[in-house]
Amino acid sequence: MAKDILRPSWVEIDLEALTHNIREIRRHLGDKEIVAVVKADAYGHGSLAAARVLLREGASALAIATLEEAKELREAGFRCPILMMGITPGRYAHVLLEYDITPVVTSVENAADYSRAAVEAGEVLPVYLALDSGMGRIGFLPDEAGLAAAKRVAAMDNLRVVGLFSHFASADEADKAYSYRQIETFRNFAAALEAAGIPLLKKMLSNSAAIMELPDAWYDAVRPGIILYGYYPSDEVDASILDLQPVMSVKAEIVQIKTVPAGTAVSYGRRFVTERESLIGTLPLGYADGYPRALSGKARAIVRGQYAPIIGNICMDQCMVDLTDIPGVKAGDTAILMGRDGDKRITPEEIAAKTGTINYEVICGFGLRLRKIYK
Ligand SMILES: *Cc1c(COP(=O)(O)O)cnc(C)c1O
Repeated sequence: MAKDILRPSWVEIDLEALTHNIREIRRHLGDKEIVAVVKADAYGHGSLAAARVLLREGASALAIATLEEAKELREAGFRCPILMMGITPGRYAHVLLEYDITPVVTSVENAADYSRAAVEAGEVLPVYLALDSGMGRIGFLPDEAGLAAAKRVAAMDNLRVVGLFSHFASADEADKAYSYRQIETFRNFAAALEAAGIPLLKKMLSNSAAIMELPDAWYDAVRPGIILYGYYPSDEVDASILDLQPVMSVKAEIVQIKTVPAGTAVSYGRRFVTERESLIGTLPLGYADGYPRALSGKARAIVRGQYAPIIGNICMDQCMVDLTDIPGVKAGDTAILMGRDGDKRITPEEIAAKTGTINYEVICGFGLRLRKIYK
C-alpha cells in the first residue's frame, strides 16, 4: 500500500488496463477523433491520472460535466480542448473564456451572454450547438424554432461554432430502432444548418454504446466514457466487440479478527446473528466510501482466493466479513471488495444488480472518498 495513504482501505487503478482499453477502442474506431469523457473524476478513477494516459494514447480532447472539473484539469496543466457537456449559465461566461473551455449551447440567452463576454475580452469562444435528438435532456429541439435559435447563435459575434453535439438515450439496448431515429434527427438537423451556411466541422453523437454498436453514428468525433474504464455500458451490448480490462479494484485490510460464539449479533440493528462459532473480521470501508448500504446481507469479499460473505449492516465507514471458512486468515490480510483474484471476481455489475443500480454508479461511488493507488 502507498505510504501516503493514511487508511488501510483503497482503490487500485490499473493504468495499463486503461491504456489497453483506449488502444482497443482506437483499433475498433479507426481514425475517428476521440474525446475522452473524464467527468466525475473520470468515473471515480482520478481525472488527472486518467487524462494523462488517455491523451498520451491519442485522445484529442477531454469532456467533463462541470466547470470545476474543467478548472482542475487546466490548473494541472492540461492544454488540450476541454468540452463542457452540461449547460453553462451565462453568468459563468468569463470562466469559459478564462479557462478556455468549449461549452455546448442550448439557448439563445446563454449564447448571448457568452458572445458579450467574448467581445469584451477580445476573444473568440468555440462552441458546440447542442441538439436534443431524443434524449429529452439538453439541446435545441429538432423543430423550426430550434433550428431558428441555433442559426441565431451561429450568427453571434465572437462565437465560433465547432460542430453539432447530441446524445443517445438508449444506444445500450439491443433494440436500436430509437437510436436510428435519433441518428436521422441528428443528420437532418445538421443538414439544415449546413444548408443555411453554417459549417459543422465536427459532428459528435456517440457514447460508449454507440461506439460499440452504431458505426453509423460515429461521424467525426466520439465520446467514450465507461468503456475507457473497462466496463460495458449494459449487458445488452455484444461484449465480444471490444476486449476490455477493468481498471478499478477496491481493497481493504482486515483490521481486526475475533472468534465469537454462536448467537453473537453483528453490526447496527443486529440483523445478522452467528449460527455457529465464527471468525469475524472488520474492514475499514463503508457506505461513505461507495460501498452501498443496500448491499447489506448480499455482499461478498475475496480473501485468500476465496469468497467470504459480508455480514450485518454495512456501516458508514466499516463493515464486517465472516472469515470462518477461510483457513489461515489473519489480521492484516487484504480483502477484495471489487476486483479479482485468480478465477474469483466481484464486478461492479454484480454490486449494481444486487442494489438496483448500474455499474456506472458503483464505480463513481468508490471514487468519492477512498484514496487511489495507481499501478
Ligand atoms: C457521460 C456522457 C458520455 C459518456 O457516456 P458513456 O456511456 O460512459 O460512454 C458521453 N456523452 C455525454 C453527453 C455524457 O453525458
